Amino acid sequence: MGSSPENVDNYGWYECVCQPASARRKKRFAAKAKRILAALLVAATAALALPALANASYGWPIKPFGHEHPVRGQLNDPRMNGSDFYSSSSHTFHFGLDIAASDGTAVYAVAPGWVHYLSSSAIAVRMPNGATTFAYWHIRPVAKRGKKVKLHALLGYIAPGYGHVHFAEKQGGHYINPLRRGGLTPYVDTTPPTVSSVSYYDGTYHDLTSATLSGTVRLTAGAFDTPQLASNWPWAVVTPAWIGWQLSDAAGKTILSGHWDLGSTLCPLDPLTVFAPGTLKNSFINDTSEAGSYDYWLGPQWDTTRVPSGAYSLVVTASDIRANQATKTVAFTVANEPAPVTPVSPTGSAVR
Ligand SMILES: [Zn+2]
Repeated sequence: MGSSPENVDNYGWYECVCQPASARRKKRFAAKAKRILAALLVAATAALALPALANASYGWPIKPFGHEHPVRGQLNDPRMNGSDFYSSSSHTFHFGLDIAASDGTAVYAVAPGWVHYLSSSAIAVRMPNGATTFAYWHIRPVAKRGKKVKLHALLGYIAPGYGHVHFAEKQGGHYINPLRRGGLTPYVDTTPPTVSSVSYYDGTYHDLTSATLSGTVRLTAGAFDTPQLASNWPWAVVTPAWIGWQLSDAAGKTILSGHWDLGSTLCPLDPLTVFAPGTLKNSFINDTSEAGSYDYWLGPQWDTTRVPSGAYSLVVTASDIRANQATKTVAFTVANEPAPVTPVSPTGSAVR
């Protein structure tokens, strides 16, 4: 936590002082062109630009501020009003972190700012820069509405029955991942994700390993990340920050590839295009714990008739926010009926 909150306001200024003054004088125009190019490159990587432009680092919202706490919910976990994603009437991506702690634990401001009530159990603190807001949900608030609070001001206490504070960070109107490098600090993550299954789905799941496909199919993967620190929901799993897939033919030529970026910002996609049927969230209902089960579509449906019959392989990779990775490679076969051959007469015209 080397940065004071004042640095947050001046983040853009810090970028400017990286340019040596002498270089600016000697090569003013070249430097200007370079800066414009750099700005264009930043704009071109829009998905990554938001975290890059975000705050200087800040500590945890519960004590001790300088120690890592268990995270039992990640940005872009599946959230719904029932436990099953597809039978629920609401489907969303989780817009922050669930930081686990006992009910009644004091929650403090990670940065100074103005207090707004989001509900009777959630408050937001908007920083003086106006662009950054931190939100703290499932608390019994004690901070006064409309008042300015300092760094580490007491905001409230975790509400009975929640066992966590939902912590969210908004930059310029967009939810971003507090666990990006340079955000919530310290955060060490050495536990790799798991790719638990690779399947195709036709109303039910079938293991893709050694399967024979024909026609149009939907490919899926089961994947999750294990939290670094065990929480008061030790069964909880979280989403990997990134899921990628690459389908290749026997010669190694890529047939299709894609990825879901679930680690940088709140995913703007329809959650039903990312999570596949059977997806469950972590829950604890009627004294019964249930671990989340996360199934991901690997892109839209795939028409296997567009490729020759033969051997194929699919590589699925899951990464967490600290780039710990897991990979699963599955070999399968495509076998479509050969297209009917139109008989040709000796004169070369088709026989009718
Ligand atoms: Zn939450």
